[in-house]
Amino acid sequence: LSSKLTFNGVSMNPVNSTTTFNFINGKYCDPVGEDWLENINPADGTLLGRIANSTEQDVEHAVIAASNAQSNWSESTLEQRSRILSKIGDLIEENIESLATIESEDSGKPIGRARTIEIPRAASNFHFFANAITQFSSESHESVGQNAINFTLRQPLGVVGCISPWNLPLYLFTWKIAPALAAGNCVIAKPSELTPRTASMLGDLCNQAGLPAGVLNIVQGAGTGAGQAILEHEKIKAISFTGGTATGEHVARVVAPKFKKLSLELGGKNPNIIFSDCNYERALETTIHSSFANQGQICLCGSRIFIESSIYEKFKADLVARTSQLTVGHPSKTETSIGAMVSGDHYRKVLSYFEQIDPADASILCGGKPGTVEGHEQGFYIEPTVIEVQNNQCRLNQEEIFGPVVTLMPFENEEELIAMANDVKYGLSATIWTKDLDRTMRLSKKIECGVVWINTWLMRDLRTPFGGMKDSGVGREGGLEALRFFTEPKNICIAFEN
Ligand code: NAP
Repeated sequence: LSSKLTFNGVSMNPVNSTTTFNFINGKYCDPVGEDWLENINPADGTLLGRIANSTEQDVEHAVIAASNAQSNWSESTLEQRSRILSKIGDLIEENIESLATIESEDSGKPIGRARTIEIPRAASNFHFFANAITQFSSESHESVGQNAINFTLRQPLGVVGCISPWNLPLYLFTWKIAPALAAGNCVIAKPSELTPRTASMLGDLCNQAGLPAGVLNIVQGAGTGAGQAILEHEKIKAISFTGGTATGEHVARVVAPKFKKLSLELGGKNPNIIFSDCNYERALETTIHSSFANQGQICLCGSRIFIESSIYEKFKADLVARTSQLTVGHPSKTETSIGAMVSGDHYRKVLSYFEQIDPADASILCGGKPGTVEGHEQGFYIEPTVIEVQNNQCRLNQEEIFGPVVTLMPFENEEELIAMANDVKYGLSATIWTKDLDRTMRLSKKIECGVVWINTWLMRDLRTPFGGMKDSGVGREGGLEALRFFTEPKNICIAFEN
């Protein structure tokens, strides 16, 4: 345990930057190799502190701790587990302000979003699975005529790995950890190196809630180091991964020959479909949100907007006007709607799409350049951008840009729309704006994706299955699907005599 520790796994040093440690066996500790990464504040490019850069040795320590804790945790009563998880949820709620501040600093997201949406959702993840585990049941089948009854025993998998991205840091970290723990597993979890600190603070809250040492271990550092070591470790039985499609493909290649259970939640390029009979004002207002929330860095953002041709010009003009009114600003300011991109690398990647536009394919209607925030000129800001696209095959409509960028295309009829909506490798979500109920059902069945929102966007009920088709992922999490993923179903067949 580092002697430098002062609070929540984050120690202050004299130059007011912080150190983020690993959390293993209930204690904060330095990485074995004493190697550290820099944590940069995307809002102004300054150094926030340093992060443990872990290796397979740290993962090994975490697995030993988790293995030692496993049998007691899996044999704990549902009531005990439920009470501890619920307490963790309560403690997240009690610490919303400090967690939201840190989340906003690490990621560049507006503090209001972190405070009102993301940190509360992290608390809900624990509260939800604290309850869900008490209601989790399995099937039984009577083999009529054979004098036997079968039932399905659902046992914890053992030690599992949870790897999450930077865009919704604590929200997605806990979305995996809560069901894994509820189901009786011990966890080795790795947040993104870009957003390590709320994950680190979670360790302290778990201790306060009475989670036994070793049940949750948080290993910080680079995906290619700590993350890779989690994928490869023989004693880790399952991997729940959320991140980009290219990384997901790599994860699948490493994990498949080891026969680990695998859940992949990957990228998206989601259609947002506007019919002329929609509730226009609601569609427009929600489209602003679904396009630019979190600087467009949400896998579910409706980044391809298809508009029925009869209202195309009007919707285009109104969308551009509203987009131009959004405030690009420092994440700590409550009036900011568009904060900073998460990192310099990601900022440059998004800007590169504007530099490479072929005028035959597309034209920028607004934005398309860096944003300027007075006093924070070194921050990674991008103006919200609307692009009119002529060709559904161009990169802008085929690749996940993951920034404050949407494209517009008109459509004439349902047939043409479905062809364009599905002509992409991704299949995560879709939004449809129409008052025609028959049409909503026709389209919902034909669009290739895992989630369809009708006249709304990102309305989540935690009981529902969540995940994508095609290159957007494999498997489903959410609700009982997550508890199914984190348990091994075993068929027990009992013969009886009449
Ligand atoms: P990413 O680069 O794929 O990283 C995701 C996580 O994997 C991070 O913790 C990363 O660590 C780690 N990682 C990287 N290389 C690894 C390796 N070789 N072995 C093990 N772990 C490794 O994704 P991102 O840029 O953080 O996140 C953005 C992507 O996530 C977007 O494509 C978005 O659509 C997707 N996403 C999907 C969903 C969904 O539910 N479908 C939700 C949110 C985001 P480091 O960051 O430390 O390298």
